[in-house]
Amino acid sequence: MEEVREVFWNIPEGPWIVYTLGIIAVVIFLYAIVARFWLVWRRGQPEDRLHPFWRRIGAFIKLGIVDGFIHRRILRQLYPGIPHLFIFWGSVFLLLGALLDFLSHYWFHFLVGNVGLAHSFFSDLGGLLFIIAIVIFMVRRYAQSPGAFHERLDRSRDDAISSILILGVVISGFFVEAFRLAAIAPGTQEAAWSIWSPGGLFIANALSGVSLGALLTWHRILWYFHVLFTVGAVIYISLFYSKLNHIITATMNAFFRSREPEGALTPINLEEAEFFGVGEIGNFTWKQLLDVDACTRCGRCQEVCPAYISGQPLSPKKMIQSLKDHLLEVSDYPFLIRPPETSLLLSDDALGENSTSRSLIGEVIPEEAIWACTTCGACLDICPVYIEHPQKIVDMRRNLILEQAKVPELVEPVLNSIEARGHVVIGTVHSRTEWEEGLNIRHLSDNSDADLLFWVGCQAALEDRSIKIAQAFAKILNAAGVNFATLGAEETCCGDPSRRLGNEYQFQMQAMKNIELLNNYGVKTIVTTCPHGFNILKNEYPQFGGKFEVIHHSQFIAHLMQEGKIQLKSGLDKKITYHDPCYLGRYNDIYQPPRDVIRAIPQVNLVEMEHRGSDSFCCGGGGGRFWIEETKGTRMSEVRIDHVQETGAEIVATACPYCMQMLEDAIGSKGVGETLKDLDIAEMVAMSMEL
Ligand code: SF4
Ligand code: SF4
Repeated sequence: MEEVREVFWNIPEGPWIVYTLGIIAVVIFLYAIVARFWLVWRRGQPEDRLHPFWRRIGAFIKLGIVDGFIHRRILRQLYPGIPHLFIFWGSVFLLLGALLDFLSHYWFHFLVGNVGLAHSFFSDLGGLLFIIAIVIFMVRRYAQSPGAFHERLDRSRDDAISSILILGVVISGFFVEAFRLAAIAPGTQEAAWSIWSPGGLFIANALSGVSLGALLTWHRILWYFHVLFTVGAVIYISLFYSKLNHIITATMNAFFRSREPEGALTPINLEEAEFFGVGEIGNFTWKQLLDVDACTRCGRCQEVCPAYISGQPLSPKKMIQSLKDHLLEVSDYPFLIRPPETSLLLSDDALGENSTSRSLIGEVIPEEAIWACTTCGACLDICPVYIEHPQKIVDMRRNLILEQAKVPELVEPVLNSIEARGHVVIGTVHSRTEWEEGLNIRHLSDNSDADLLFWVGCQAALEDRSIKIAQAFAKILNAAGVNFATLGAEETCCGDPSRRLGNEYQFQMQAMKNIELLNNYGVKTIVTTCPHGFNILKNEYPQFGGKFEVIHHSQFIAHLMQEGKIQLKSGLDKKITYHDPCYLGRYNDIYQPPRDVIRAIPQVNLVEMEHRGSDSFCCGGGGGRFWIEETKGTRMSEVRIDHVQETGAEIVATACPYCMQMLEDAIGSKGVGETLKDLDIAEMVAMSMEL
């Protein structure tokens, strides 16, 4: 059977031109990757992101299917997710088409008959999908009216050059095909096959009056243009490290992605470390530098960042771009295209010739940006190239606190309180065990055979409003006949505030002290009402040998309900919405149990906010922000209360003492306390149980 189309038709000299230029392009492409590694990423500190190797390979394949082929993460925003899906599959069809052409022409001759026709059709389809998507992206970037949506994008020379180059490659390819089809004699088998090349045929129909000689000449001219443009595009993308290089860096970032739980920060080896945290760009690990380099400036992280949305001086996108700009400058990378200046945190004036000497903290990344983050993880969760923002922010905080002894004014007393009194509730008039009065609660010291340790947490033990959460949960446990105990006065801070604020030294002291205590009691299972304590006990204590089964109270109450150990008596005839805490939902995937608990209460009408689940909006209290006053913009907690009020809810249900206090404060400051109340899910269940 005949090949469907002759490769290098009308271009007898085609093979040696294509293969010579192709080899040059491949060499430059490989050189660029090696140069990038050698000059840029290698500046970072060593970090093992290869092991466990086979588990990593397995995870990479899974991620490739889910986030690559199916685009799950990118399609969380249908626009621009769908055009990106078009580009992805368009590229796959085009590149695969070219590869199959090459293999079939020289070796296997399999592009014949129906297989050849399918190959023609899918190559054309790929090109059409590609053009549609690029045009949509160009309209979006250059023609769309300004507004909140457009604000997430910026424009660089690279955006324009990349778009024009790849559009030129695909369009010129269609024209080459069109002139070939127009020159084919009507009535031949090849002419009949042209219907399987709809893109080329569409243009060819417009060339019906052109003479054969002119068609052949123009076909040759366009072929040369197409080949040179393609090779030029590859060289540009490679050397100038265009944003299109994210095809490589995003793939690498997916492969080297952290295998630790998302809620776990990396520990510092305090005994061996030569520096603490990150005070200059080379203090980041090589993977963190690859991360920074992989950013495509898509703006998704900025669009979901509660700090940015509420007007705080932080944009995760701008932070990553500022790091990238600084990294490339200090790396002496020879083919540098700087990110657009609109991406930088600093004013244009601060970007002078001498910018390589700028200090990372203060001049590249302002301190106020570093302290504005709540470590909510929304950026991490949405970034399509898997950039890990919160760890970088905490690393810079570690440098500020441990190397420079710079602590925000309001935070210092909190860290001092942890050190002196083992808790974060400054000015409390309560003792650790006062909340237990009248509840018949035993301590591990006198009930070491308890099945469950209730880790109460600083807020629920010592803060007036949150004490009610601990009391409600203890009443539920007692009513359900659970054999539990607390640590009583032996409990101290879990260390979460210390760690997120950057005081890794204090965190490790707290963690090791607590782990020793828990291990001495032989504790196996722990329940917490606080997602921060839950996350740190579950995901970070194992870094220091503390391996426990850790359960959040929402999960435990849901479990008791399933077992029939909870008798709900009274109804709660209210419209209720549920606020997902970041450290429960986004970091630990616990979305359903709290909702199951709320729905189980008779007469409850549960309504959802627009920003819920993994798209929840931080209350503003995470990452130590609970103690730092928001002096700019709107308070994040007030923005969240706006979300609550949009649902018409009369109660906002929470499952975190920090969220509860942040939201209650905002209810007070917005003056909506008459119509809106805040209740922890344990309080709601205890009320319904009439405890
Ligand atoms: S962790 Fe949250 S607050 Fe911090 S940069 Fe990311 S989205 Fe913004
Ligand atoms: S960090 Fe990720 S989400 Fe943010 S702009 Fe860069 S690629 Fe997009």
